[in-house]
Amino acid sequence: MKDEKGILFILSGPSGVGKGTVRKALFDQDPALAYSISVTTRHPREGEEDGVDYFFKTKEEVKKMIEHNELIEYAEYVGNYYGTPKTYVEETLAQGRDVFLEIEVQGALQVKENFPEGVFIFLFPPSLEELKNRIINRGTEDQSIVRNRLYEAKKEIEMMDAYDYVVVNDDINSAVRRIESIVESEHCKRERI
Ligand code: 5GP
Repeated sequence: MKDEKGILFILSGPSGVGKGTVRKALFDQDPALAYSISVTTRHPREGEEDGVDYFFKTKEEVKKMIEHNELIEYAEYVGNYYGTPKTYVEETLAQGRDVFLEIEVQGALQVKENFPEGVFIFLFPPSLEELKNRIINRGTEDQSIVRNRLYEAKKEIEMMDAYDYVVVNDDINSAVRRIESIVESEHCKRERI
């Protein structure tokens, strides 16, 4: 028997752990999955496209969305707002498709309050040293932002116990394979005649 509703998966973990890379590789493997594009007030990085990577918004626009209860969750992260639009997630799950959110930890904890049936996956760095190198080597941010992101990352790692699964991102292909098995087992859990 097929599940009627899709499953909401929350892929979270510290900045620089490789959430974006793992998520893109996962979606290449399984195009049936749906990705919820977030809104952000951060400026686009080189190569980022509005409506593909994020919906780039002003602070006023995001504040209005918050007031009108249009976001499932939102967080202020290193000086910018990030949030998950509600309508897309609800409609896509209702169509029977699995939806992935790729968000930081404060937001993931809010989703847990409203969607306790969601599946929470924490992507973990091979080590803190490796995480620091990845944040620095990304090279898109200045020194103070790098420091803030590292500080946030340490706080985020402390929240790991609130998650259903921990996946170590030591190698992209292995991380993707582990997430695919989580998706499959969560469907098996929900199969009932
Ligand atoms: P970045 O600026 O590097 O794209 O994202 C910064 C952090 O915000 C990352 O950890 C990213 O996963 C997270 N993020 C992206 N979209 C959302 C969202 O909609 N909500 C929350 N809470 N975090 C988000």
